[in-house]
This record gives sequence, C-alpha cells and structure tokens, in this order.
Amino acid sequence: MVVKNVCCIGAGYVGGPTCSVIAWKCPDIQVHVVDKSEMRIKQWNSDKLPIYEPGLDDVVRECRGRNLFFSNNIETAIKDADLIFISVNTPTKTYGIGKGRAADLKHIEMCARKIAEVAEGNKIVVEKSTVPVRAAESITHILSANTRPDVSFQILSNPEFLAEGTAIENLLNPDRVLIGGEESKAGEAAVAELTWIYNHWVPSEKIITLSTWSSELSKLASNAFLAQRVSSINAISALCEATGADVTQVASAVGQDSRIGSKFLTASVVLGQLTVSRAVSTSQTKLPSCRFAKRIIECLFNTVTDKTLAVFGFAFKKNTGDTRESPAIYVCSHLLEEGARLNIYDPKVERSQIEYDLTSAAVTSEPERIKKLVQIFDDPYEVVKDAHAIVVLTEWDEFKTYDFKKMHEVMKKPAFIFDGRKILDHEALIKLGFHTETIGKRFTRNSLLRSSGGDR
Ligand code: ADP
Repeated sequence: MVVKNVCCIGAGYVGGPTCSVIAWKCPDIQVHVVDKSEMRIKQWNSDKLPIYEPGLDDVVRECRGRNLFFSNNIETAIKDADLIFISVNTPTKTYGIGKGRAADLKHIEMCARKIAEVAEGNKIVVEKSTVPVRAAESITHILSANTRPDVSFQILSNPEFLAEGTAIENLLNPDRVLIGGEESKAGEAAVAELTWIYNHWVPSEKIITLSTWSSELSKLASNAFLAQRVSSINAISALCEATGADVTQVASAVGQDSRIGSKFLTASVVLGQLTVSRAVSTSQTKLPSCRFAKRIIECLFNTVTDKTLAVFGFAFKKNTGDTRESPAIYVCSHLLEEGARLNIYDPKVERSQIEYDLTSAAVTSEPERIKKLVQIFDDPYEVVKDAHAIVVLTEWDEFKTYDFKKMHEVMKKPAFIFDGRKILDHEALIKLGFHTETIGKRFTRNSLLRSSGGDR
C-alpha cells in the first residue's frame, strides 16, 4: 500500500497545523481533516482560522481545496482514508480518579469506536494525541473487539512535539520524528508508510522508529524533562526574590555549563507551558502565578481594591491565541478576588474567550461580580488610561515597541509596571518615571522603603 488518502480526526492545535503541513509537503496525498465541531470546521474553511500560528494562513491558503479539506463528514473521511490520525484532545480529568492530574481518554475512545464501526479494508491508525503509555493498546483492543472479518488495523504511535506559537516552524524542521509500531512484519510495513509521508520533507536520520510503548513513553519523558527545567528555574526565581540574587544572571551562569545548556532556563510567571503542564500538574502552574499576584498587591501598598490595573497579554505565550492553563487566568483571578478592576488587552485572544476564562465556574463562584470588574480593550493605549499599574502577562513582541512615555502620562502616579515575562527595558522605564518590578529579582519597593526609613 502507498498512502494516498489521509484522514485526521480532530481539527485542533495539533491536528490542524500538522495536517496542513502534510498537505503542503505531500501534494500527492489527499488530506481530510474532520471534527465533530461544526463551528471549528466553518472557521477552518473561512479567512479567519480558528487558531493563530505564524505561517499557518499561507499554508492553508495554498492547499485548501487542492489536497486539504476540512469537514464534519467523519464517517466518509474514515472510510476513504488509508491512514487515520487521531488528534483529539486529552484534557486533564476534572472528575473521578486522577482528577486534576490524569488525561481523560474519552475522546480517543470515541474515535476508536467510530473507526471500528465504519472502517472498511486495511487501515493504519496513528495516535497523535498525548496519551499515557499503553493507550495504543486500548485503541487496539477496541478496534480488534469490534472488527469485521474483512477489516484489519495497524496502530502506530507518532507523538507531536510542536510548541504553540512556533508550530509551523517546528513541523517543517523537527528535531526528530518518532514513529512507534508493533514489532511484526505488518507493523513494520505500517511504520514504513508513515515514514514515507514524513520523508517528503524530513531527512531519514531525523525519523526514529521504535516500539509503540517506547514511542509513547518518550513523549511523556520529554515532557517531564522539560517540565523539570521550567520548574527548577522557577524555584530558583523564588529564591532570587528572597535573597537579592537576579535570576537572569543566575540562569545565564548556570546555562553556560555545556552539560546543562541554556534552553528552557528562562524564569517567567508561567510555570507549565501547555505541553509540560500535565507532567507537572495544573496545581503547580498556579504557584508562580500566585506569587506574582501577591507581589503586585504588596507592592501597590497592600491593596488593589478599586484600583485599575492594565493587563498586557492573556494568551499562555506569544504568537498564539490559546489561553488554556494560561498564567494570566490565575494572576487575574487572584487580583479580581482582591477587588481590582482589570483592563485587559491581548493582540490575539478573543474577547469572549477572556470573559469565559475569568467567569467560568472553575475559576470563580461570582461571575456577575467579575464581569463588572473586567473590561477588555482593542487598543493598548486605551487600556492604560487612569491605571495604577501595567501587568505584563504574555511576552508579545509588540509590548516592547510601545511608547511608554505616552502611557506614563495618562496613568495614575506613582505608575507601576509588573513585568511577569521579563521582556521590557527596565532601565528605560525607570528613567521615564515608572516603578518597575519583575520576577526573579528582589522587590525594589522593599529596598526603597528600607532606604527611606519605611516601616518594613
Ligand atoms: P489539541 O491541542 O490536542 O489539538 P484541541 O482541543 O485543540 O486539542 O483539538 C481537539 C479537537 O478534537 C477539537 O476541535 C474537538 O472538537 C475534536 N474532537 C474531540 N473529540 C472528537 C471526536 N470524537 N470526533 C471528532 N472530533 C473530536
């Protein structure tokens, strides 16, 4: 078999960009991306795609209607495909055993059952979603228990390593591609098919074939190692705040060690980026966020009640509109609980998403009160009017280009900037009259109070 027709179930952050790149690089393959959500598919077929990723618009524009199709016809797409990617979401369970920790596999199971129900002939089923080890075995079980005599399946594990905000670049130039399969003749043949697809643009030495379980565990192990680094540097950041060391200097000094390296040693208000957060668990994502929120309150003379804070950025990182597990949700919730008024601006996150995130039951029991305290703006210069402070929660490049002199003029004095992402030029801001605070560094206000004989 040579794969001619690929189907991808799940048109989300993983399935959408991955299959768009496959369609782009493999004009000889028809790619059908399907989803149960009509809204999502409508957006994929429009000029405003449901997700923002640099470069994605161009790829989709070139391939859509040629060999890339988005639809809700899940059954037809499964029937027509030689190879089916499962890239549905595996959200952290919000109920039952493993609540707040374990991945919920119900969507994957639904897909497996749907494939078993409608598939005809031989199919390769590729697990792309991040799953616990041996999930492929569960898929195999469901498929084999429901298979008709004329149908056969091979299950592969092909975990995704893209980072949101750089998805297209990561997909085009991956560090490596993992393809895990059954150790049998049929398994090897299936691995060869998927390898052939990637070989359209990825050099062979970057394609690693391994057993299914090794592949699944490699993905989780990579996430855990990344999480460890992020979590370590954030612990160091807290120490810096307490001792007067500067986390930027410490990270740079430690990162010079070739055994350690400098990547992923940037302290920030975010602990778990989405891909690493499950390994670390959501509760720990909240830790640096709470520390940062507390610091803001302390610095603003121990109260933010009825003060207006201009929030720059709501996405969990730059170049994405994704807010899942964004530290902004935690920081803002904390500030809202203290009665702060928040003026929020993000270049890509939809207004409705911010409202949903801050008023959803998981975050607050008082949605009506929260609605009154939050205002969302489309203009960064409007957002700072009469604000006591600017709070930077996402590292968007455009924040660095603002005219802070102009902003300072319209803010309440003393004007504060809390840079949760360490992206602004603090020296320049201080010269403009701002009081700046960042993470991983001792409070300047503390020392200010001490030197002026303050009472702390
Ligand atoms: P990820 O970041 O893993 O890509 P997303 O939430 O962005 O996750 O996307 C997952 C997509 O999968 C969603 O658009 C959702 O509607 C879709 N999905 C979930 N379950 C099914 C299913 N059983 N059949 C089809 N699509 C599904």
